[in-house]
Amino acid sequence: MDKWIEIDISAIEQNLREVQSRLEMGTRLIAVIKANAYGQGAIETARILSRQGVDFFAVSFLEEALQLRQAGIQAPLLVFSPVISPDGIRDAMKNRIGLTVASTNDLELIEEVCSDAVDDLTVHIKIDTGLGRFGLNQEQALLVWGRLANISNVELEGIYTHTADPSSPASAEKQFQQFMQIADRLEQSGATVPLRHIANSTVFLRSPHMHLDGVRIGTLLTGQHPVGDFTQRLQLQEPFAFKTRIVSLRNLPQGSRLGYFGTYLMRTPAQVAVIPVGFHDGLALEVANKPINLWDLLKKLAKIILGYFDWPGQDIRVTIGDQSFPVRGKVFMQMALLVIPLGIEIKVGDVVTVPIRKTLAAHDIPRIYLDKGTYSDQGNRAADG
Ligand SMILES: *Cc1c(COP(=O)(O)O)cnc(C)c1O
Repeated sequence: MDKWIEIDISAIEQNLREVQSRLEMGTRLIAVIKANAYGQGAIETARILSRQGVDFFAVSFLEEALQLRQAGIQAPLLVFSPVISPDGIRDAMKNRIGLTVASTNDLELIEEVCSDAVDDLTVHIKIDTGLGRFGLNQEQALLVWGRLANISNVELEGIYTHTADPSSPASAEKQFQQFMQIADRLEQSGATVPLRHIANSTVFLRSPHMHLDGVRIGTLLTGQHPVGDFTQRLQLQEPFAFKTRIVSLRNLPQGSRLGYFGTYLMRTPAQVAVIPVGFHDGLALEVANKPINLWDLLKKLAKIILGYFDWPGQDIRVTIGDQSFPVRGKVFMQMALLVIPLGIEIKVGDVVTVPIRKTLAAHDIPRIYLDKGTYSDQGNRAADG
């Protein structure tokens, strides 16, 4: 195998324990395992979390939920994104997959399908409190809930919203107030709302009073804190490590240029190694969203400029054993070059750990699940304890 991703089961379990330790009794954990569990592998992650007692999962799309069901995951599932075809809704019913209703369009489709269906359908309604993605306003929420309540085979399980600005507790608070007002109005109109939920990882850490009946956590379970400053930090572990092996190693003289366009000039002779990992696998990829403000823009510009001048600290660095080395030259589609000083003992076949953002790592790279309690990097069994 020339590249693989090692997923440390005990790290996932540790992250789960950390999240659970901040949960009040009676607040349900909805583990978000969308996008292949942020790259960690949705099916295996669901199994690992299920064994530790997690009994509710969420994903973005029906297709993701169906794959989990096909793999034998039995726990309740919620799909965030609206399902827009009658067949999709029938599939959800057959497979006991909970759906989100976020528009009157979604409502009408469900009314149509449910009128001649035998199975039950579990539904959460989604309120838009400022993200601008999916959701109902107050008036629509009352209307949609009322009509769903009239469908005998619809089970109304919850109401939720998603916050927009992770950098601003004040704006999350405003969204929270708006959401609670709508949920309260629903209950005043006679509805029973079993599950209110708003918190993602950011809100979960920052605002315990917003935990409500359930929290939807993805990022923290994958071992990372969300972007932003937190006074409360958890003891998280990174479960994800992308590994490969050196496939070529040569000494090149001073003055050699590396990669397309010769962007890197070797100022000293060195060993140049090739790893079979490139942007096709997710190496050197970043999400190129518009900067969020002027400061962010300046930071991004500074990064590009420093990177252009090979400023240390801007490098992509891989690790081999306990040493780290920079990737040099432009990353190729399926390869990259490492510069390793002369005299460092290294050979073809040595294992290299490559920093690849897990959400951007290619899906076709095999994920290998290890319990690092009984495993070490060299493949030897570690001593107990
Ligand atoms: C992705 C997502 C979450 C989880 O967010 P994290 O910040 O990764 O915990 C929760 N709710 C919705 C609707 C999402 O799309």
